[in-house]
Amino acid sequence: MDLSIVVPVYNEEENIPALYDQLTAVLEPLHLDYEIICADDGSKDRSFELLKALAERDPRVKVIRFRRNFGQTAGFSAGFDYASGEVVVTIDADLQNDPASIPALLDKIAEGYDVVSGWRTNRQDAYLSRKLPSRIANWLISRTTGVQVHDRGCSLRAHRLQVVKEMRLYGELHRFIPDIAAWIGARMAEVPVNHRPRRFGKSKYGLGRTLRVILDLITVRFLQGYSTRPIQIFGKWGLILGALGFLLGLWLTFEKLALGHSIGNRPALVLSLLLMLMGVQLVSIGLLGEITIR
Ligand code: UDP
Ligand code: MG
Repeated sequence: MDLSIVVPVYNEEENIPALYDQLTAVLEPLHLDYEIICADDGSKDRSFELLKALAERDPRVKVIRFRRNFGQTAGFSAGFDYASGEVVVTIDADLQNDPASIPALLDKIAEGYDVVSGWRTNRQDAYLSRKLPSRIANWLISRTTGVQVHDRGCSLRAHRLQVVKEMRLYGELHRFIPDIAAWIGARMAEVPVNHRPRRFGKSKYGLGRTLRVILDLITVRFLQGYSTRPIQIFGKWGLILGALGFLLGLWLTFEKLALGHSIGNRPALVLSLLLMLMGVQLVSIGLLGEITIR
C-alpha cells in the first residue's frame, strides 16, 4: 500500500459524499495503491450509514466506528493503528482542508521529510475566536517545545508510516503531532495548503479548548524533557531545597549550642524542617518515577 488517508468523522453527513468525490478526483490520477480510513467518532447523524455505503461500493474505503464520541485524537489514533500505507495523510471530513493540496504534501515527503505539516495561510475561520487564539497557542507551544511550526491546528498532514506507528496519542494530543514527531527524531517540513469555509455542519470546537491545550502543553513538555529521567527534575529540586533546610538547621544548632540562644520559638526552625521534608519527598517522588518508568 502506498498511501493511507485517515479521516476523523463526527456528524458530517452533508460533507461525506463531496469529500469522497474530491478525494477520489485527486487520488486516482496519482496511480497509487491507496486506502481511505474513516474513523466515525460516534456520530449521531447518518455519517456512519453513508460511510458504510461508500465502503460497500469502493473497497478502498474502510470504516472504523466508535461506540461513543471519543474526540478527534482518538480518530487519528485508530486510523494510524489500521493504516498500512507507506505514507499516511490525515485530513478533516468537513471539506475545510482541500484534498487538492495532498500532492504537494506527498512531493515534500518524496524529498525525504518524515512529517509534512499543512499551513493554512488563508485560514477561513473567525478571527477573534479561532485564528487569534490559535496564533498565540502556536507561538507559545513553539517557544516551549522548541519546534518551529506555524499551524498545529491544521489536520492536513503527511507522515511516514513508521512515524505514526511510533506515536502514542491520547487526550487532545493530536495538536502536538509535530512536536511529538520532532521528539522521536522525524525530519519536518511545512507546506502552505488551501483552506475553505465550512459549508455544512458545525465546528466542534470553540475557545473552551484553550485551557486543555495549556494542560496538554505541560504534559508534552514534561514528557519531552524528563519522562525518561524523572529523578533529574524532582531530585534536583529535592536536593536544592533539602540542602537549604539543612544549612538553616545547622545554623540554628550553632546558635543554640555555641551562643546559647533559645531556638524553640523561631520561625526559621519550622522553615528548616519544612525544607528538609520537602527535599526528602521530592527525591522520593523522583525515585518512584524512575521505578514506574521501568
Ligand atoms: N471530529 C471528530 N471528533 C470530534 C470532533 C471533531 O472526529 O469529537 C472531526 C470532525 O468531524 C472534523 C474534524 O474532526 O472532520 C475537525 O473538526 P472541526 O471541523 O469541528 O474543527 P475545526 O476545523 O473547527 O477546528
Ligand atoms: Mg473544520
